[in-house]
Amino acid sequence: MARFDKKVAIVTGAASGIGKEIALRFAAEGGIPVIADLNLDAANATAAEIKGKGGDAFAVAMNVVDEDAVNKGVADVMNKYGRIDVLVSNAGIQIVKPVVDFAFADWKKLLSIHLDGAFLTTKACLKHMYAAKSGSVVYMGSVHSKEASQLKAPYVTAKHGLIGLCKVVAKEGAAFNVRANVVCPGFVRTPLVDKQIPEQAKELGISEEDVVKHVMLKDTVDGEFTTTDDVADCVLFFAGARSNALTGQSIVVSHGWFMQ
Ligand code: NAD
Repeated sequence: MARFDKKVAIVTGAASGIGKEIALRFAAEGGIPVIADLNLDAANATAAEIKGKGGDAFAVAMNVVDEDAVNKGVADVMNKYGRIDVLVSNAGIQIVKPVVDFAFADWKKLLSIHLDGAFLTTKACLKHMYAAKSGSVVYMGSVHSKEASQLKAPYVTAKHGLIGLCKVVAKEGAAFNVRANVVCPGFVRTPLVDKQIPEQAKELGISEEDVVKHVMLKDTVDGEFTTTDDVADCVLFFAGARSNALTGQSIVVSHGWFMQ
């Protein structure tokens, strides 16, 4: 039997980048990913891609900072499948600016998508996981859950915050066999990173090539980007763990940029 046979995983931000890879990989191992994203067209396209390969998937329009939209999306999944085994709280954005130039509205927007989004989706899913006495929550952290970089004040703050949320959910969820863990990737070439390369070059007054070589990959052991596949491996590892032995943890997948 496949590792995730008929298990249902809500993956937020799964219409693109890392979330999309997680959805594809979950489906390839027999699971049913719910592609929950702001961008419904792209979510539908991902679901169609999975169905085209013989799997099952469900696209849901969800703005993770909208409590009603989150609750409706989760209710739709329960109505359709009657179970939620895994939540991957992955939706995120990036905005780069020095603290002195950071607009308050952008600070709040970034914190809200990463932290309010994680809270609201966790709260909505836990109810069903607790009733089933089983579940796994995986948060998409970052090396920035452990380390700081200039220009990324709210992102670093939010990603550190997810570790705290994870630890609380691990403690509260234990009685219901619900686990919570965090995956912390280094730089992965997705639209989120492609957008910030020219922005960082402008802010730092260096070339885009230098941003990649001397900022993003500077501290890796081999100058390599982490891939969406590398990240999906870690998410599926946490999602598939079979006991509370593996809970409240964070794993860094970054070509050695950050070593614990
Ligand atoms: P991406 O831009 O490729 O995908 C992000 C997805 O999230 C998009 O489909 C977007 O529509 C969706 N999204 C954005 N705001 C949303 C909202 N309010 N509600 C629902 N969906 C929303 O980005 P990515 O690189 O795949 O990033 C995914 C996650 O991985 C983020 O949390 C990011 O911080 C984290 N991460 C990325 C990297 C990297 O280098 N790419 C490294 C570490 C962590």
